[in-house]
Amino acid sequence: MTVSIRASLLFSALGLAALTAAFADPPEDKEAAAHPKHWSYGGEGGPEHWSELAPENLPCSAGVQQSPIDLSGALAAKVDTPHPGWAPARGGMVINNGHTIQVDVSNAGGIKLDNADYSLKQFHFHHPSEHTIDGKAYPLELHLVHASADGKLAVIGIMFEEGKANPALDAVWATAPGKEGKAAVAFEIDTAEFMPKGGAAFRYEGSLTTPPCSETVRWTVMATPQTASSSQIAAFSSLFPWNARPVQPLNRRYVLKTSG
Ligand SMILES: [Zn+2]
Repeated sequence: MTVSIRASLLFSALGLAALTAAFADPPEDKEAAAHPKHWSYGGEGGPEHWSELAPENLPCSAGVQQSPIDLSGALAAKVDTPHPGWAPARGGMVINNGHTIQVDVSNAGGIKLDNADYSLKQFHFHHPSEHTIDGKAYPLELHLVHASADGKLAVIGIMFEEGKANPALDAVWATAPGKEGKAAVAFEIDTAEFMPKGGAAFRYEGSLTTPPCSETVRWTVMATPQTASSSQIAAFSSLFPWNARPVQPLNRRYVLKTSG
């Protein structure tokens, strides 16, 4: 009886929270040092903190041509759009990297844009869309990531609205690991199947939409959306309820729109 009274006095004197903190602090600090905070789409690793997580992420806050953006007020212009030279590809990996479902490919051809050659490296998805068109977000945005021999990037963004099922998505979804991991691609990837019929597109200069937010991306966002069924959209959003960076200021850039 006496012991339990003493114990309760001790606890009330120190405060239970203080005691817990005194024991919990050192291991937490070690953990933080061994594993620096990883980026995410919310909370302490969320987009407003990306630049604090690693020195190379500085452009995420200090950059002036960041992506995504709201595609509105576009200037009609005769600008180049990607000239596809994709080749149907076998092999590669479908990766759940904890941020998205990404398909790494090789020997899948590429595009020509502004007289430069870019080869397709990977494609991945965002839910909801990262770019918005006149303020409107779509349930899904596909990014086809191409790189030139000198390391410049050309990314094509394709919006998906809810409608008819897209057969090209089914194979990717069926292979995608439910948690972080990889699975070999056992189907033929025909990148051209993802492209919408209309050639109208927005063009602007921007960045990666994930850390380190490098401003090395020549963006083309197709103006015509593709469709995906509600169950295809739900299949992705059950894995990634929100993997979209908020839209960034346009600053001193122009968005150009070509009718294709
Ligand atoms: Zn992306």
